[in-house]
Amino acid sequence: MTRIHISEVGPRDGLQNISRVMPLEAKKAWIAAEAAAGVPEIEVGSFVPPSLLPQMADTAELVAFAKGIEGLAVAVLVPNFKGAERAIAAGSQKMSLPFSMSETHSLKNVRKDHTVVLAEIRAIAELVTAQPQAMRPHFEVGLATAFGCTIEGPVDEDNVVRLAAAAMEAGAAEVGLSDTTGYANPAQVKRLVRRVKGEVGADRLNTLHLHNTRGLGLANALAGLEEGITTLDASLGGLGGCPFAPGASGNIVTEDLIFMLEAMGCQTGVDLEKLMKVRSIIAEALSGEPLYGFIPDAGLPLGFAQVAA
Ligand code: ZN
Repeated sequence: MTRIHISEVGPRDGLQNISRVMPLEAKKAWIAAEAAAGVPEIEVGSFVPPSLLPQMADTAELVAFAKGIEGLAVAVLVPNFKGAERAIAAGSQKMSLPFSMSETHSLKNVRKDHTVVLAEIRAIAELVTAQPQAMRPHFEVGLATAFGCTIEGPVDEDNVVRLAAAAMEAGAAEVGLSDTTGYANPAQVKRLVRRVKGEVGADRLNTLHLHNTRGLGLANALAGLEEGITTLDASLGGLGGCPFAPGASGNIVTEDLIFMLEAMGCQTGVDLEKLMKVRSIIAEALSGEPLYGFIPDAGLPLGFAQVAA
């Protein structure tokens, strides 16, 4: 039976896209409850300067807290070398650095062109290898805007393949593909996953990070699965939304994704009934914030039974 690894990114991607700051205790309760429902990996925050994103100011505390939860992989996002230093000092087990495939997007967001980002990837990889074994986080480079960019429009696939190889050559342990903008379609996902796997090695691209801005998130997830993707990022209640697409969730909704996977006979290890109860923690801490998801609204179909976790 196929096992699919779910990485919950709501505490990072969801929360950074809403202006309100979730209190630390609520974040802890959310993380603990999701882990208790069987979610194997959670991206608990981002090591960006708190002056830029006050929502993420408590990331080091969350890493320490989440590391106390048995069996949970603790992931963080790092925007640069400085962030990687903080992530390692905090004891993060996995860190991913977003690398914008659109150079215009990269310049606008982090004021760095591709050459500069690749040099930073190399420096971070060296920093990781300089650590004692037990302190080395798994270092993933997320190929952001891989399926299209809100500034440049279409992103050249040859370029994505080339930059994926360059990131691996610079020392990343693996690359992931991110549809940062919600532009991807399933045919494109299949093509790009196949091409990047072909370039960097089938086991060096395992993860898709998808947004549901245009409603194709689950279709894109399925297309990725058919090409051998084994890890999917998702966010509980699709938290975060999309400022440009009212009514659309942010990331693909964890509850809906797990329903699809389990209904198809894939194993996730997540107890869906338990997971849906976790929404109340967010609803209470951020009252009025929209939460998305078809399964929480419609309920599970009669007779739906999860395969053994
Ligand atoms: Zn995202």
